[in-house]
Amino acid sequence: MQFTKKVCVIGAGAAGLVAAKHAIREGHEVDIFEQTDQVGGTWVYSEETGCHSSMYKVMKTNLPKEAMLFQDVPFHEDLPSFMSHESVLEYLIEYSNDLPIKFNTTVTTIKNSVVTDSFYNVVFVCNGHFFEPLNPYDSSKFKGRILHSHDYREAEDFKDKNVVIVGAGPSGIDITLQVAQTAKKVTLISKKAAYPVLPKTVVQVATHVKEVDETGVVTVEGDHFEADAIIVCTGYVFKFPFLDSSLIQLKHNELMVSPLYQHLCHVDHPTSLFFVGLPLGTITFPLFEVQVKYALSLIAGKGKLPSDATIHNFEDARLHGLQNPAAFHTMVEDQWEYMAELAEMGGFEPWEYMETIRKLYAYIMTERRKNVIGYKLVNFELSKDEKEFKVVDFASQ
Ligand code: FAD
Repeated sequence: MQFTKKVCVIGAGAAGLVAAKHAIREGHEVDIFEQTDQVGGTWVYSEETGCHSSMYKVMKTNLPKEAMLFQDVPFHEDLPSFMSHESVLEYLIEYSNDLPIKFNTTVTTIKNSVVTDSFYNVVFVCNGHFFEPLNPYDSSKFKGRILHSHDYREAEDFKDKNVVIVGAGPSGIDITLQVAQTAKKVTLISKKAAYPVLPKTVVQVATHVKEVDETGVVTVEGDHFEADAIIVCTGYVFKFPFLDSSLIQLKHNELMVSPLYQHLCHVDHPTSLFFVGLPLGTITFPLFEVQVKYALSLIAGKGKLPSDATIHNFEDARLHGLQNPAAFHTMVEDQWEYMAELAEMGGFEPWEYMETIRKLYAYIMTERRKNVIGYKLVNFELSKDEKEFKVVDFASQ
């Protein structure tokens, strides 16, 4: 018979919900702590800025519903493939309906499994990582409006303005396409001019911004781009205010969480302290679920852990193969092997449908590069056995 553990889950976003769901299924006693008054984390839109969520008013998911589901919990069939944030929030609310969540409760400290006033055997850290802006620029001289994408809400705020957007990651490009509809001019500055087709109001410049001055931005080459408004889309750092540095350190510009094995298990507490959802450039929900299943296999004593030396060497081995250490948690193509490895070590069957998700992901990444304006204007149809998908244009439906 399996020993029941007291499990603490920090955060009721997608990662916390799937961790709690599976832990309860395994017979553990679970408390979920959520600092806000609702579930959903990232997917809770608020007009107010300065809150946890970085969601903007109008958005379509950058992955389709066919690749964003928890195993065996499909999105509603009437929804388009690329959904609004409201639809994802509804999905998470439905998924959470029987879970024991303590709302308006912020975890402030974890010490050797002592959380607030309670004792736990296991802690799942699921506090998200798109809430603490990475902003490399001193904006104090700039006379116009400057904001990080964390505080961007809607394009109307930039009507008839000359806007400079720095960074062309998923948020940067989404915001560029929105602001281009209302602004007089948009200059998108990013490392590479990655998109061959952009709206006429957008000028794409491949360079690095060195600094922000009184009237705009200065590039490393010394070029100056004037702006009424600057939107800095340079991403986020990790943050764990409830963990002290004897337990967790943030390295490489706070973009690497250490010391962890498999981006998940604390190396000194590999069967009791887990960080779900750290990998970047992934299919998120399905990957969170695989991480949780592996963690639960370790808690149950069934999953495999390698030798202590291998656990402690995990980070060095991964860093060794990377050009940029700040990309430590960025997976993209590595995610498939990563999930397969966790399933193998956890002794659970890999999800057969994952192969279809992999194909969908590859298709979307290619289409996005080719046609970032239009790639979300399609629906996908799965074959009966769900092994293949076909693209159905909105126009032909
Ligand atoms: P979060 O959703 O951030 O949830 C963390 C939760 O923890 C929050 O509810 C927070 O209030 C709570 N919390 C934090 N600290 C504490 C504490 N100390 N005590 C108690 N509670 C705490 N992914 C996709 O798959 N598709 C997309 O299209 C997509 N679009 C995105 C668009 C934007 C603008 C952003 C920012 C992200 C997007 N993502 C997308 C990624 C998205 O963040 C993940 O899909 C996923 O929602 C992350 O879930 P999470 O549970 O890890 O974090």
